[in-house]
Amino acid sequence: EPALDDSFTQLLEWADAARAMGVRANADTPEDARTARMFGAQGIGLCRTEHMFFDAARLPAMREMIFARRPEDRRLALDRLLPMQRADFTTLFRIMDGYPVTIRLFDPPLHEFLPHDREGMRELAESLDLPLSDVVRRVEALTEYNPMLGMRGVRLGITVPEIYDMQARAIFEAAVEAGRQGEGVVPEIMIPLVSAMREVELVRHRIESVAAAVRAERRAGFTYRLGVMVETPRAALRAGDIAEHASFLSFGTNDLTQMTYGLSRDDAARFMNSYIAQRVFDEDPFHILDQDGVGELVMIGAARARERRPGITVAMCGEHAGNAESLSFCLRAGLDYVSCSPFRVPVARLALAQETIARDMADSAAGMPRG
Ligand code: PEP
Ligand code: MG
Repeated sequence: EPALDDSFTQLLEWADAARAMGVRANADTPEDARTARMFGAQGIGLCRTEHMFFDAARLPAMREMIFARRPEDRRLALDRLLPMQRADFTTLFRIMDGYPVTIRLFDPPLHEFLPHDREGMRELAESLDLPLSDVVRRVEALTEYNPMLGMRGVRLGITVPEIYDMQARAIFEAAVEAGRQGEGVVPEIMIPLVSAMREVELVRHRIESVAAAVRAERRAGFTYRLGVMVETPRAALRAGDIAEHASFLSFGTNDLTQMTYGLSRDDAARFMNSYIAQRVFDEDPFHILDQDGVGELVMIGAARARERRPGITVAMCGEHAGNAESLSFCLRAGLDYVSCSPFRVPVARLALAQETIARDMADSAAGMPRG
């Protein structure tokens, strides 16, 4: 078991006593979760689930789920995926030992799950008992010009609702299991790439029915929290409505930056150096949060959500959540916690302590009578 040096641990504990915001980690593997614990994360703030479906045992089933025309074929694929997904969450809950775990529902760009060659299409046609020409046509129909602006996140979740049903069931069954082992956990389910309240409403109703079914089958009571990722400008602007259906919001600033600038997060680096050299931007906005652009949407979203639902939890889980400069903004925005890569957790703990102390000193200086 790797561990931190004693004096460093002491320093981090002092920092924890000073800081006014929570720090969680982004983690979706057992290794990440263990690292997160070792570095003192107060939970998992973002467990991405799409990578869990890339391995050879799962990819064909997920493809079948997306391509199946008949509900019974979807059900077969679902039955294969459910036990694996339940085991993923059972393991994470166990490692996190009662700390909160926020699981984000499936959020791929669809093209990552389409078969790319003849062989893949043939396999899919065989397992679904469809003519090859049918699968070829469907792949063509599902191929998007802009996958990052297409059938991602909740859009796929609403189009193929069985995927989220399966994940919600896996989460609830794993929570019941953890509860029986004495490791009480209140799972948090997060809906990705939302842009309209109705999306949240639709997913929420289905998740509520899954929860009711699992409670009845397992004769177990459990609670959970449902949240929404705010990563489109529209979701930030409509955060008040969205808050009606969510007990927490988490800003995904990677996509929010991409969509606010209309600039591909995967391609931005190609010209950023020349833009910085010409002083169009001071910094790469994908590395340091653009406080008066993207940050303004964060402020607007947080304010509108809190106005409609006082006490709603508001967090940030994009890459910016691990950057010291961006953290000072998060503190000013009054976010409840940030969630960053496990290796950035110690830096976030220290940076937040420093920022909190600086803020409090500035406040008390401002409140002092002038002499
Ligand atoms: C984000 O968009 O900021 C986010 C956290 O999600 P992902 O990076 O997985 O798109
Ligand atoms: Mg995102």
